[in-house]
Amino acid sequence: MDKFSKRYNGLFQGSILCLLLTLVSSQATQCDERNCKLPSCRCPAVHVPGGFEPSDIPQMVLITFDDAVNWENWDYYMQLFPKDGSRKNPNGCPISTTLFVSHNFTDYCMIQKLHARGMEIADHSITHKLPREWWSISTKEELEYEILSQRENLADYGHIPIEDIRGWRSPFLQPNGDNQFEILFHNNFTYDATMTYPFPRNLYSPVLWPFTMNFPWSIACNIDPCPQNTYPEFWVVPVVTMMDYREHLPCSYVDFCTNKPRNQDETLEFLWKNFMRNYRTNRAPYYVNLHSVWFDENDYNLEAMDQFIQRLVDMDDVYVVTVYDAIKWMRNPTSLRNMKDFEPWKCTWTPEKEDRQFCEFTFRPRTTPRVRKTTTTTFSGEKTTTKKHSNSPNLPDDNENSVTPDGFRPWFRRNSATVPKLSVLAGLLTVILAFWL
Ligand SMILES: [Zn+2]
Repeated sequence: MDKFSKRYNGLFQGSILCLLLTLVSSQATQCDERNCKLPSCRCPAVHVPGGFEPSDIPQMVLITFDDAVNWENWDYYMQLFPKDGSRKNPNGCPISTTLFVSHNFTDYCMIQKLHARGMEIADHSITHKLPREWWSISTKEELEYEILSQRENLADYGHIPIEDIRGWRSPFLQPNGDNQFEILFHNNFTYDATMTYPFPRNLYSPVLWPFTMNFPWSIACNIDPCPQNTYPEFWVVPVVTMMDYREHLPCSYVDFCTNKPRNQDETLEFLWKNFMRNYRTNRAPYYVNLHSVWFDENDYNLEAMDQFIQRLVDMDDVYVVTVYDAIKWMRNPTSLRNMKDFEPWKCTWTPEKEDRQFCEFTFRPRTTPRVRKTTTTTFSGEKTTTKKHSNSPNLPDDNENSVTPDGFRPWFRRNSATVPKLSVLAGLLTVILAFWL
């Protein structure tokens, strides 16, 4: 064999090796059933977890409210989720909801009571500032302040164990790519509920289930920037769009539809048709994302929502639960038949339990100043109007929020994105082989 044949042969072998390594590396970066299994991993998909038929699993309904909790919306929560626990899921536990709470205008006494009642409290920033674009271009430090300081507020002033605050939703559903996911991942959050998913655009197709970020983002990026890196075991609960009541246009929030229902029947029909999309197809969680101001728009939205929830409660295969409950089910998919004994959804709830949480609602004005830690007065009725706060600005510029509460040390997990990718190694090896042979 002459010198040129040898060299040609060497290059050929190198190319084959490169091809093989590239194939291996691309396999390693694509999520599929072979390399991604529950409870630690789930690919973005519409098939039912656990291999069940849709009719064999509970239909979960995740009602979420965003923004401040105060006197503007307290009565709505009281009506929809009565504190005597009379609205129950088939397992005997009261129905629940997830509140993504921002700091400004929030009454933390109400947060304390809602949490005591079994509702999930999640993080939705300190300032919720405008413009929307700020949330896509803010620095990691700025975003860190918004996410971590608000979690501390909820823990300190709402008296919630910090490990119970597991979820984050960015204001205006505006993601910040890997900055956002790195902060959440490295600070022990369980899930993000920011990422909008605009498909399907009709009421007859199955809906995307929540998924983990063990593999790079592979579905449509509806609002830039989406994350590029991977975050093992960290969940994405997608904001799947609904179809408006005319079935013309999608809407991310119940209250953001361009075609708004014009009366109570149309509103109920709108909620019900979207629910049936999930119920009749793959029974993915039905996401009902809204702002309480929707109930201020007219006198029928609240009544329609009330009717809608009652219909759900009357069904024996529907569970109105929190976002974190849905993740607990996904980690351990269980058949409808066994749901009454499903341990992760057991509740220790008793009626009026939150009345044992002594705190005092703040004065009725729309602006709620920061609640100071000295709030130890006795509870004297839900509509107490004792004025006790200074009118200090809502946005603290001191370092109070950066103090980690006692006893909490978020553990740190290595981000797999920092590990060199196989494809890079394959490329390097090929170059070395080509020169060497
Ligand atoms: Zn918001």
